[in-house]
Amino acid sequence: MNLADIKTVESLLRSKGFSFKKSLGQNFLIDGSVCPLMAESFCDENSGVIEIGPGMGVLTAELAKRAKKVVSIELDERLKEILPITLGEFSNVEIIYGDAMKIDIGQIIREKFSDCESVSICANLPYYITSPVIMMLLEQKLPVKFITVMVQKEAAERLCARVGSREAGAVTVAVDYYSKANILFNVGRNSFHPAPNVDSAVIQLEIRDNPPIEVKDERFFFKFVKACFAQRRKTLVNTVSNTMGISKDTLRTALTKVGLSETARSEQLTMEQLATISNTIC
Ligand code: SAM
Repeated sequence: MNLADIKTVESLLRSKGFSFKKSLGQNFLIDGSVCPLMAESFCDENSGVIEIGPGMGVLTAELAKRAKKVVSIELDERLKEILPITLGEFSNVEIIYGDAMKIDIGQIIREKFSDCESVSICANLPYYITSPVIMMLLEQKLPVKFITVMVQKEAAERLCARVGSREAGAVTVAVDYYSKANILFNVGRNSFHPAPNVDSAVIQLEIRDNPPIEVKDERFFFKFVKACFAQRRKTLVNTVSNTMGISKDTLRTALTKVGLSETARSEQLTMEQLATISNTIC
């Protein structure tokens, strides 16, 4: 079945009385070139893949052709009527119905992928949970190799920005702490059905063995980073003292230690500078 063909997709969905739920971010890919590129970027015959949100299974099928095993987590139980039809030919695919934000993905990795050399995560993510899903996956420190996901283009630029540049935010620091992030390619809005109002991009996070910086207290570091970017127009001294109640003098001294003036903004700071300040004030 050609799931990149809009007529095939529409007729199958119509026959099952399926209507798209905007609230679940249901924009299905109908561009035949995108899913093979996503799958080829990391899959091989010894790898396992966890997919979030298979929809009709268009990406799932390309993953199943290249990986040893695919476990897909889908929230919408109405797809129980469709996925067995679209993925019936693949014996290496399992669908788990549930909320990817609540399911224990660590347990899935332990239980389902012991015969795979590596496990990666792949998804065309629903826009409404892009950053929470990525943060949840990173913070759990799951034993995964790559996270390859399609996200809104602007989110891709923020997630993969250089820490120390204008585009960076707290999420950029977290992504860089846990992984090496790259934008693989852009995907226009017309590659989806129904077409959303925004363009997308596929990003790949290669999970690091160790963080690129040393922080004394990880929890404190991320609290500090969140405070740094809470009020982007303010200086670091003002936003961090307002948000965390740390004295301005302490922050000024810490900034001097990394060679920056008291008027520095958080977006100017590198990972090393953020780590040094956090280690100084924690
Ligand atoms: N992978 C398909 C594709 O590329 O055409 C569908 C992608 S669509 C953007 C997002 C999918 O995620 C939908 O199938 C939606 O039902 C599912 N979804 C939404 N929220 C979810 C959640 N919390 N957990 C798991 N799946 C979810």
